[in-house]
Amino acid sequence: MSGNIQAVRGMNDILPEQTPTWQFVEQTLRNLLAAYGYSEVRMPIVEKTELFKRSIGEVTDIVEKEMYTFEDRNGDSLTLRPEGTAGCVRAAIENGLLYNQTQKLWYLGPMFRHERPQKGRYRQFHQLGVEVFGLEGPDVDAELILMSARLWRLLGLEDSVTLQLNSLGSSYARAMYREKLVHYFEQHIGQLDEDSRRRLLSNPLRILDSKNPDMAALIAAAPKLTEHLDAESKAHFDALCAQLEAAGVRYQINPCLVRGLDYYGRTVFEWVTDKLGAQGTVCAGGRFDGLVEQLGGKATPAIGFAIGLERLTALLDEDVVPLEQFRPHIYLVRVGDAAQQHALLLAERLRDEVPGLRVQLNHGGGSFKNQLKRADKSGAALALVMGEEEVANGTVGIKPLREQSEQQTLALDQIVPFLRDYVAGRK
Ligand code: ATP
Ligand code: MG
Repeated sequence: MSGNIQAVRGMNDILPEQTPTWQFVEQTLRNLLAAYGYSEVRMPIVEKTELFKRSIGEVTDIVEKEMYTFEDRNGDSLTLRPEGTAGCVRAAIENGLLYNQTQKLWYLGPMFRHERPQKGRYRQFHQLGVEVFGLEGPDVDAELILMSARLWRLLGLEDSVTLQLNSLGSSYARAMYREKLVHYFEQHIGQLDEDSRRRLLSNPLRILDSKNPDMAALIAAAPKLTEHLDAESKAHFDALCAQLEAAGVRYQINPCLVRGLDYYGRTVFEWVTDKLGAQGTVCAGGRFDGLVEQLGGKATPAIGFAIGLERLTALLDEDVVPLEQFRPHIYLVRVGDAAQQHALLLAERLRDEVPGLRVQLNHGGGSFKNQLKRADKSGAALALVMGEEEVANGTVGIKPLREQSEQQTLALDQIVPFLRDYVAGRK
C-alpha cells in the first residue's frame, strides 16, 4: 500500500496554531527560572542504557517496559531519554560541575516512553526539569516549591492544581518500613492484583502508587511511612512544612505518594489537577540525595522536579496567551508593478529603523481586496497600502484592521516615526 506516511503513534506535531501557547509557556518558565538563579543545561537526547537502569531502577515501569532502547551500529545499547534527571546528573559529574559548588540547573526538551497513548500521555512528550545540587534543604526544598507555586500564579492556574507532599525518609528508614509493608501485604495477598504481587518482592513501595481502585482500601489501611520516619528526616520534613505554611502555600500530606522512580528519598511532592482526567500529575519531584554517589560522583544532596508541558498547556486558559505578540504589527499590501519593488524595499527599511516591528509582506500578487483579506487573516493590526498612486506621490496608506477608523495617508518620511510610536505603545 502506498498511502501517506504518518507520524509514529503517540508522537505529535505541534502546529503553528499551538506554538504561541508553547512559546509563551517557555518564555514564562525562562523568566521565572532566571528570577530564582537557575542556569540552563542542555544534554543529549540519547544516553547509554545502563545510565537509566542504574538510576531510575531496574524494577520500575520506565525501565521494565517503557524505554526506547536500541543497539547502534557499534553494538552499544542506547536509549532515548525517558526523563532528564539521570542525564543531568551524568553531565554534572562528567563535567566537574559538582566540585565545591552548588548548582541550580534546568533543561527543557522531549522525553520518550513507550506507553499507551491517551490524553495527557504520549510517547514523545516534553518536560521542564529543574535540579539543585549540593544543598541539603529544607529551605531549598521550600524555595523550589514556592517557585512552582509562582508559576501557577503566572499562568492563572493557582485554582487548578493542589500540592501533595510526603517524606520517604532515609534509605535505612525505608528499608525498615519496607519490611513492615511486605509483612502487611503478605497477610492480604489474596487482595493484591497481579502487578502488585510482582512488586511485593521487587519494589513493594510502588504498590502504594497503584491506580487500581480495587486496591484502594487495602492501600489506605497499610502502615504509613510517615509513621516510621527517622528523626532527621522527620525534622527536615517538619521544617519544610513550617516554611511552606509561613509562605502561605497550602498542601496535603499524602502518605501514599512514593513516586515511580527509585532514586527518591526524603521530600517528594506532586502538583495534581482534577481537570485532566486520569493523567492528573502536572509536576512531580523530590530529593535524590543518593543518586550522584550511586552514579559514581562524590556524595551530593540534590532535589528537583519535572513538569509535563503537554499537561501544562492542556490546562491553560487560552486567554492568558498574549496572542498579539505572535502576530504581525503590519501587513504590507502592494498593488501594481511599481509597488512590488518599492514595498519590498520599504519593508526592509522599516525592519531596519523600527526596532521590534513585525512586518508581513504580501506575496503572490492579488487584487487590493484580496490582499486586504489576507491582511485580515494574518492577524495584523494595521495594513500599510502601497499602490501606483502612493508610489507616484511618495506616500503610504495606513488602514487599521481591528477597529473602525478611516484609512489615512502618510508621507514616506513620516511612516517611521509613526510606527515607532505605534510599536512603543503596544509593548
Ligand atoms: P504518571 O504517574 O502520570 O505516569 P510519572 O510518575 O511517570 O507520571 P514522571 O516520570 O515523574 O511521571 O514525570 C514528570 C511529569 O512528566 C509527569 O508528572 C507528567 O506531567 C509528565 N509525563 C510523564 N510521562 C508522560 C507521558 N507519557 N506523556 C506526557 N507527559 C508525561
Ligand atoms: Mg509514568
